[in-house]
Amino acid sequence: MLTLILLILTVAGLLVLMRREAGAMPILVMLGGLGLVSLLVSPVLGVLLLLGAAAVAVAGLPALRIQWLTPRLFAMFKRVSPKVSDTERIALEAGTVAWDGELFSGRPQWDKLMSYRDDGLTEEERSFLERQCSVAAGMCNAWEIAKERADLPEELWQYLKKEGFFGMIIPKEYGGLGFSAKAQSLVLQKLSISETLMVTVGVPNSLGPGELLLKYGTQAQKDHYLPRLADGREIPCFGLTGPRAGSDATSLPDTGIMCKQVIDGEEVLGLRLNFEKRWITLAPIATVVGLAFRLFDPDHLLGEEEDRGITLALVPRNTAGMEIGRRHHPIGSPFLNGPIKGKDVFVPLDTIIGGTEMIGQGWRMLVECLSIGRCITLPSGASGTMRYALGWTGGFARIRRQFNVPVAEMEGVQEPLARLASLGYIAQAAVYQTANTIDRGEKPSVPSAILKSQLTEFQRLGLSDAMDIHGGKAVTLGPRNYLGIGYSANPVSITVEGANIMTRNLMIFGQGAIRCHPFVLEELAASDSNDLKAFDRAFFGHAALVFGNAARSFTMGLGIGKPSVPFDEVAAPYARDMARLSAGFSLCADAAMASLGATLKQREMISARLGDVLSNLYLASMVLKHWQEGDKVEGEAALLHYSCIHLLQRAEQAFDELFDNLPNRALAGVLRAVTMPLGRRWKRPADHLTREIAQSVSRDTALRAKLLAAAWQQNDGAKDNPLAHYNALLADYDRAEALYRTVNKAYAKDELPRQALHPEARLEAAREKGLVSEEDAEFMRRFEAEVLELLTVDDFEYDEFATDKANILRHNAA
Ligand SMILES: Cc1cc2nc3c(=O)[nH]c(=O)nc-3n(C[C@H](O)[C@H](O)[C@H](O)COP(=O)(O)OP(=O)(O)OC[C@H]3O[C@@H](n4cnc5c(N)ncnc54)[C@H](O)[C@@H]3O)c2cc1C
Repeated sequence: MLTLILLILTVAGLLVLMRREAGAMPILVMLGGLGLVSLLVSPVLGVLLLLGAAAVAVAGLPALRIQWLTPRLFAMFKRVSPKVSDTERIALEAGTVAWDGELFSGRPQWDKLMSYRDDGLTEEERSFLERQCSVAAGMCNAWEIAKERADLPEELWQYLKKEGFFGMIIPKEYGGLGFSAKAQSLVLQKLSISETLMVTVGVPNSLGPGELLLKYGTQAQKDHYLPRLADGREIPCFGLTGPRAGSDATSLPDTGIMCKQVIDGEEVLGLRLNFEKRWITLAPIATVVGLAFRLFDPDHLLGEEEDRGITLALVPRNTAGMEIGRRHHPIGSPFLNGPIKGKDVFVPLDTIIGGTEMIGQGWRMLVECLSIGRCITLPSGASGTMRYALGWTGGFARIRRQFNVPVAEMEGVQEPLARLASLGYIAQAAVYQTANTIDRGEKPSVPSAILKSQLTEFQRLGLSDAMDIHGGKAVTLGPRNYLGIGYSANPVSITVEGANIMTRNLMIFGQGAIRCHPFVLEELAASDSNDLKAFDRAFFGHAALVFGNAARSFTMGLGIGKPSVPFDEVAAPYARDMARLSAGFSLCADAAMASLGATLKQREMISARLGDVLSNLYLASMVLKHWQEGDKVEGEAALLHYSCIHLLQRAEQAFDELFDNLPNRALAGVLRAVTMPLGRRWKRPADHLTREIAQSVSRDTALRAKLLAAAWQQNDGAKDNPLAHYNALLADYDRAEALYRTVNKAYAKDELPRQALHPEARLEAAREKGLVSEEDAEFMRRFEAEVLELLTVDDFEYDEFATDKANILRHNAA
């Protein structure tokens, strides 16, 4: 019995000290003390504990271990640690580490997340969002843009330039709007009524000449270009990708050779560019082309080095040798995109962005800019698209009746509708809160990869759900179809700015493991500089973290020692469990790195699952912060529960698959036992949440209004706004539903003529019978007419779609 008590005391003491990362000395004292006591009761246990204490002394006390243990570990570390290429190093060093680092540590300090204060938008930003964005959104009809014009309307182009849409990131002193990241994001969300409009405005405000000039441009370049970019006199594009260099962009074969050329009788030092780029957004109309190429100096005009590395220049469109203007045809969306070629294009040295100082810095410049732009443009597009999709779909599901009830009442429809609402809710929170960290000075590089890949995947799922619920209405293209064109354009956002497969499998965890990890970067740096002492510090700090995470994960998995979190009682349970999952994640990340070493780079499926855990934890934390700080509305708690459960369930699913597939099976078993001692905790969201959410978003509720807040909802534009029609119908829905019931009940009881099959005919019959007042009948006539208008689809002349009209096959010519 005494032996058992001593054993329990030892295990409990170890767990407590490990969980607190108390260091070697307290563990040594505890094991030594308990070992001596145990010798009196159970000599075997006593000897084992004293041996344990000796091992801790040797490994835990720096003065001892640095003599013989650390050098051996250092040699081993150098052998197995991944080699970081220059390209990877630049990516790793770009941006900042913030909340993502907390999640990686396994002991997230929630106060750090909450310390990103949100000051909201300025009056000017709010007014722009209200007025200018509504006007721009109101000029769009998806069909007209995609199929009739293959471009935005001219008056919209003029308006965008006049109102400064292309200069949102350009400071006021250069004539730009100087908007915050949050404002840019909300603008793009409102413009997502048309993916062509969103991309057209998003791209110049994202990674491209504007941002590159702001960060790295010479004063002369800034003074010349920024005011012209801000008011749309210059339209920029940026060419990195070519036929041979897609995801592996640094392999670009385009060259700039240092040379001299005589211009107007004067010898000018410059570059001879040869390049072939494709898929370049805005290229067909761009007036200035940002170009990435590899600079060579074979004649040593600049110095000793011949291969000077990737460099960026701004080349005016009309430069001799440029071939520009042709178009690609991106799926679904006709935004302007095309190839650019250049043969022996001579440009002077001052076209290099940042001047000669920035020669060879191109990749660093691009990667640094990417951490911000990638957080904003495509994630905002995804969030905005889902706002509109939800507004339309909730409205449609309520007004579309089959089997005598709105399809929104059918559980089969409620499931995708609630999912769409939740994906949109998560996206709104994630993009807003991450933009807020940018406004607070962060350059979130790992979150930018998470947001880009996760939210565009949400967009893909959400749009699929929206399409399914709309049935044939969204399948049939034409001016009345507000959804189908955006749906078919979805692969664009999946592919650009780092295709999603690569981003998920390689970048999120690959970058995070080194960049966000509290010790790995230090260990690699110590290895590079052969600094044994620095390695000792980092490695044993790392070891303490691993033991600490194992103890935290295991005890919290058993429900012991819940951390305190700064959330209300609705959100707190999720935050507490995230602390457990974060500890488990950090432990598993270390275990995967230790067991797979350099081969982890190739084990992308393992890396992807770890990235999925991190991504889901990141998104859930954004949802929690958004909830905590926002004005809560009726019904929102259901959406919070659904969203958090969904994300945490996905995180546990990723853990499960990781354990199923980790090559070292013994290690996988230990990790599973430590991180999930009682099995998985999260299942899919319960049906009652699904029902509640679907009801809320398909009716005129405060929750629906909150979710659609940044969408264009008035009907005051140049084009008709289906969302405004749906909103108006939902406002009248309760009255209409009561009348539908009265009329249908009377029909079922044979009180109305059998041939009154149309709702309109049935209504008139009910009015004649005095079952419905004239006032109600008039209300229902208008209501039904609106409903029918929204359910109507377009049809066309037989030969409308053929461009080769001469060869149209006339099947029924006779
Ligand atoms: C409409 C459109 C607009 C664009 N606009 C611009 C622009 O303005 N400027 C510009 O420079 N570029 C632009 N691009 C290029 C875009 O950034 C590239 O398409 C993107 O980088 C992917 O390259 P890729 O299409 O050649 O795919 P590939 O590199 O051929 O990749 C094929 C598949 O392999 C996957 N893959 C590749 N490497 C890995 C890996 N290591 N691990 C796992 N999976 C991997 C990818 O995820 C992808 O699924 C645009 C592209 C399109 C289609």
